[in-house]
Amino acid sequence: MMDKYFLQISNVAKSYKTRGKVSEVLDMISLQINEGEFISLIGPSGCGKSTLLNMIAGLETYQKGTIKLKDKLIEGPGVDRGMVFQNHALFPWMTVFENIMFALNSVMENKSKEEKEILANKYLDLVKLSSAKDKKPKEISGGMKQRVGIARAFVINPKVLLLDEPFGALDAITREELQDELERIWEQDKRTVIMVTHDVEEAILLSDRIVVMSHGPKARIQEIINVDIPRPRKKSELLDNPRFNKLKKELIKMLHSESIKT
Ligand code: ADP
Ligand code: MG
Repeated sequence: MMDKYFLQISNVAKSYKTRGKVSEVLDMISLQINEGEFISLIGPSGCGKSTLLNMIAGLETYQKGTIKLKDKLIEGPGVDRGMVFQNHALFPWMTVFENIMFALNSVMENKSKEEKEILANKYLDLVKLSSAKDKKPKEISGGMKQRVGIARAFVINPKVLLLDEPFGALDAITREELQDELERIWEQDKRTVIMVTHDVEEAILLSDRIVVMSHGPKARIQEIINVDIPRPRKKSELLDNPRFNKLKKELIKMLHSESIKT
């Protein structure tokens, strides 16, 4: 029988065993995600957000439950899932363009060189990096490197994009710029996205739903918030939006509540 949902996480429990000691990180995690949805994961530090993302990526195993993408059990990493980390490792000896081409070459064997170059240029244009395409990573700023990471994840056309605090290492202004940019790219190129963030405003700006996790050990999903603010959204315009401010207050209150903290 076909599952109703695109990505289906059912009753997942995860523990780590280090030096004989077992720590139970996540418990009873169930979440259904529709195709094209933008989901944010938010919760206390150390509750298991990265762990959950890594399990969806197929980089971590788990003890209980199932994670299915389009009815198929996730059993390891795959090109149907693209990941962007906080500090995106680019190959330092390759230019921006070559870094994108490398990703394309490793997953799109059946496309011609010309087709791949067109794709690489399209995504470099989307993240506004066309003029820096021949630069090496050490010649560009942190924000620009992060844009290369985003372009590289989008260009291989994964079914799901997994973003782990993608803007966490950036200064506030670059961060806001990139948040607006990600919103714009997502509007043009709707993908299923799961993003871990600490930033409540970032979560509201970008998400269809925000998943709030409780404190670990045995962290659970505490609450799922629908963000019913029309798109396209822009950070500067949201700041005066009463819906935005109400959601922001709700989320901050939730993240400070005892049930989440302890
Ligand atoms: P978050 O991303 O929410 O901050 P993590 O998923 O990184 O949290 O970590 C959740 C918990 O699991 C933490 O207590 C962390 O120390 C532990 N943990 C994470 N990765 C490992 C690992 N590879 N081995 C053992 N423990 C781990
Ligand atoms: Mg983390």
